[in-house]
Amino acid sequence: MQLDHILTHLGEERSRYFNAVSPPIIQSSNFVFDSIQDMRDAITDEINQHVYTRGNNPTTAILRKKLAALEHAEDALVVSSGASAMAAAVLSQVKAGDHIVCVQKPYAWTYKLLTEFLLKFDISFDFVDATEIQQIADALKSNTSVLILESPNSLTFEIQDLAACAKLAKDHNITTVIDNSYATPLYQNPIDYGIDIVIHSGTKYINGHSDVVCGVICSSKVIIENIFKSEFMTLGLNISPSDAFLILRGLRTLPMRMERIVNTTAAVIDYLSDHDGVDRILFPFHDSFPQQTLAKKQMKACGGLFSIMLKTKDKDKIERFVDALDAFLIAVSWGGHESLKMPSLVFHDIPGREDSPIPYNLIRLSIGLESPEFLIANLEKAFKAIS
Ligand SMILES: *Cc1c(COP(=O)(O)O)cnc(C)c1O
Repeated sequence: MQLDHILTHLGEERSRYFNAVSPPIIQSSNFVFDSIQDMRDAITDEINQHVYTRGNNPTTAILRKKLAALEHAEDALVVSSGASAMAAAVLSQVKAGDHIVCVQKPYAWTYKLLTEFLLKFDISFDFVDATEIQQIADALKSNTSVLILESPNSLTFEIQDLAACAKLAKDHNITTVIDNSYATPLYQNPIDYGIDIVIHSGTKYINGHSDVVCGVICSSKVIIENIFKSEFMTLGLNISPSDAFLILRGLRTLPMRMERIVNTTAAVIDYLSDHDGVDRILFPFHDSFPQQTLAKKQMKACGGLFSIMLKTKDKDKIERFVDALDAFLIAVSWGGHESLKMPSLVFHDIPGREDSPIPYNLIRLSIGLESPEFLIANLEKAFKAIS
């Protein structure tokens, strides 16, 4: 399906709401029926009908259709966060006694899901260096039911061979779940490689305006309906109709935002590649990236999130660099209109995190919608502050 059709037309039923171009926010918790039979019909197909907003809501339903189409999936659910999208997807595929294989260094709350939450239900796990398919194969056990991927990850950007992972998992009757937040549905469609469930933090590029927290689950009709009837309805993972409206609005400009971000990122990375204050650049499409060939095979483009390692190991200098880099806001998250910086130094003085494996000269940058000139001038200023 054509991108333009999806973003402007798919799922919009304008004749049902006064031919309004923009969809209404159906801010209603419940929906009434003309008859017993009508109500019965709706309840038996609750995922597609309108019964109660903890289930399906008309404003959110428009978004579901567009996101499913963007991910080449049969159906999608929009949930309260990226973290809950991963939790619901994984929960839907496990039972007590199962084992999960997961990529090393996954997103923090995917890590907690395995190391704390699911442990309570006697579900064990192994983290593996998934840059080598053999390492995944070696970690599989007879009770492995889920393989969790994140390609690229959002701090050091290691990727996995999606087709190889999907094949290995299918051969062993294991469900694959991938966190595809980084690449967006525009730049990587894991379902095309045979991956079963794709989740997103919609908080990042999909909404893109740093004003909504949400998640997306994309998969087959059967899997999505099972998640809907169980995890989604039981845990109450729905978003509000007004948030659905905001995400729809954000989604309309996803291609233009990404194009702008990709171009700006290329210019910023060019500048940084030539700078002698930079020791390394971690970015899947960078010439120095060990998996660049695979990255270019699987992804149409990279986003605007990457990490640099400064040449200096002097903590005071790193701090001065970060302070001088004031066009980039210091914050968690990424994928919004605003450029952000996330120095790993933040995590090095938190009690209990002293053993963080991430070197403290690493700084993650998220490129926003500002111009490359503006951002590069600011980087120049920051390097001057420590030279
Ligand atoms: C932010 C993020 C999440 C979690 O999303 P929330 O919407 O914050 O719950 C999951 N995966 C990745 C890669 C992320 O960056």
